[in-house]
Order: sequence, then structure tokens, then C-alpha cells
Amino acid sequence: MRISLRRRFAAAALLLFGLAAAAAPVSAQAMADTGRSVVLIVTDGLRWQELFGGADSTLNNKEYGGVEDTAALRRTYLVGGAEANRRALMPFMWGVIARDGQIYGNRRLGSDAVVTNGLKFSYPGYNEMLTGRPDPRIDRNDYGPNPNLTVFGWLSSEPGFMSRVAAFGTWDVFADIFDRGFPLMTLRAGWELPFPGSTDPSRVLLDSLYATTTRYWPGMPYDAFLQASVMEYLRTEHPRVLYLGFGETDEWAHSGKYDRYLATAHRVDGFIRDLWQAMQAMPEYAGRTTFIITTDHGRGSGLEDWTDHGKDVEGAEHIWIAVMGPDIPGLGERRNVSFVTQAQVAATVAAAVGMDWVKVAGPAWTAGALPVFGPGD
Ligand SMILES: [Zn+2]
Repeated sequence: MRISLRRRFAAAALLLFGLAAAAAPVSAQAMADTGRSVVLIVTDGLRWQELFGGADSTLNNKEYGGVEDTAALRRTYLVGGAEANRRALMPFMWGVIARDGQIYGNRRLGSDAVVTNGLKFSYPGYNEMLTGRPDPRIDRNDYGPNPNLTVFGWLSSEPGFMSRVAAFGTWDVFADIFDRGFPLMTLRAGWELPFPGSTDPSRVLLDSLYATTTRYWPGMPYDAFLQASVMEYLRTEHPRVLYLGFGETDEWAHSGKYDRYLATAHRVDGFIRDLWQAMQAMPEYAGRTTFIITTDHGRGSGLEDWTDHGKDVEGAEHIWIAVMGPDIPGLGERRNVSFVTQAQVAATVAAAVGMDWVKVAGPAWTAGALPVFGPGD
């Protein structure tokens, strides 16, 4: 109830103030006065097993992993024990975030991160992480427009954040998950052109790649397209609240292609590094930007179930969450944190920019932030 009242208020506020704010260009200087920024990055269906343990040698074969070149996979990702392998797979995660940030979900260290929606597939997971609570009504990926306010939609109509919230996702369903009813929020989902109408040569090129690439997945371009679009967007737009949704990790796993799943995880790690470094080189972001990185669901385990997830797939509720930013002590890989949830991501996104999602949505509606801020325990 509070959500829908709030939303009506937000809509009215937009009518009054929205158009003026949208028309006024925001300078980098203005932003430097306003404080924190946050980026939420999700790579769909990347397992905690690979994140914390690196490549699984039992899947390095044709039969169970669909691997085309097992020698190359061994050389690239099976270079030693779990710590060496995970660093080979995701060097930025284990070289930088594990030092300067925090990573939840290594069950071997008594740290469990879980989805609480019980369904263990994408739309219920994205709704849970973006609103702070699972919604049993959302029980299929083609559910349609999200009836719930997301933390992104809310922030896009708050002072200081108007026209400074953007979501880029490869999956076309993000158009429903985020809801289009927020005119001050930039939303690009699926194969939508990232820069329609632009005459800037880089943007024309990106749009033409979106328009002319033969679609391997009908509802989803390659992750590389999304990354290039976001890096280009960032050059001029300076969002304070940014979402990136990568999708290939899930698609290659469903196809049983373990080599491509690993290659994608490795590339996503590089995308995160590139985005972090680009933002740290921009004065308005340097030292005041938080990254939150997670996945929408886990997957099964063993030789066959690794490809799958869903309500009946055992273990697919286990996920991982990584965070790094100026207000987050570098406690590294968290041990003996018995239970954090996907629902806590929403309030964590808000807290990273000094906003209180629990107060807005109501404590009955939403989980509080992850225990990442302050001096730690
Ligand atoms: Zn999936």
C-alpha cells in the first residue's frame, strides 16, 4: 500500500518538477557537490561455485561441459588450486574487490547469500533485488510490467537524482522489470537502440551494430554491446545511479557450453574493471562511487544440473554479492556471515547514495541493507 501511494506522489511530483529538471543539463561540477554514486551490476545466473572456486575440472569435457578445446580451458582457467583458479577466472574480483571491498556467499567459509523468492529464476530474482522483497505474484518471466516500485524508479524522481538514474540491460524483459512509468529514468532493454537519433559517430556506430547484428538470442544482444553502450553513455551523461544487466552467463550455461560460460564470466570481470577504472578517472566519481555486483539466481550442481536453475533445482537459491565503495571497509571475503539475502540489495543501493529505502517502502515491505557499511564486525 505504501508503495502505491508513494508512487502516486512521485508521479505528481514529476508533473510539477520533472520536465524542468529533464530539460536542464547537469554539469559535472553540480554533481561534484552532491556526493555519492552507485552502480549495480548483475551477471545473470553465474554460480557461487565458479566465483569462489574457479573453473570446475569435472566439467572440462565434451560430455558434460560441451567444451570445444579442453587443453585451452585447462591452460586458461585450471591453473592451480581454487584460489589460483578463481583469480584466473575473475582477476578484478579477486585482485581488487577482495582487497578493497567485501564478498558474500562463500558457503565453504560459512557465508551464505540466498534468494528468498523460492522460484530461483530471473524475473522473481530481479524483482526481489530491486524492490527489497519477493513478490509471489511474479511467478513467470513474461509476467509483464512490474507492479512494484523499484529503488531505481523511486530514486529517479528524488531531488538530486532526477535524470541521473539509468538502467541498461541486455534482456528485453528489463523493460517490464524496471517499469517505464518513470520519465526521468533512462532505460535500455534488449535490442533497443542505445542512442536513437544521435548523430555522434560513436553512437551511430553502436546503434547500427544493434540494428544489423543477426540475433543469436532474439531478446538479448551480446554483453559486449551493452558494455560499449554504457561506457559511451557515461562519457556525457554522468548518472548517479546506474544499473548494468549482463545476460550471457545464463544463456551459455543453459546451452551446456561451460567454456563459453567461463569466458563470459571472465569478460564480465573485465567489464567491471574497465567501468571502475573509467569512473575513478572522472573527478565526479573518484572516491565517491560504490559498486554492488551480484547475480539473480544460482544454478544446480554436479555434472548435469549445473546448466539449470528454477524452483525444483536444488541449490539454485545460493548466490553471491560483492560490494566495494568509499563507505565500505575492505573486509574482503566474508566468513561466518550466516545469512544475507538478495532482498537486501535494494536498500544497499539506496544507502550507498545516502538514501533510505526502508523508510520509503516500509520495514514490512523491504529488507534492510547488507551489513557492509561502517567499521565492520
Ligand atoms: Zn536462466
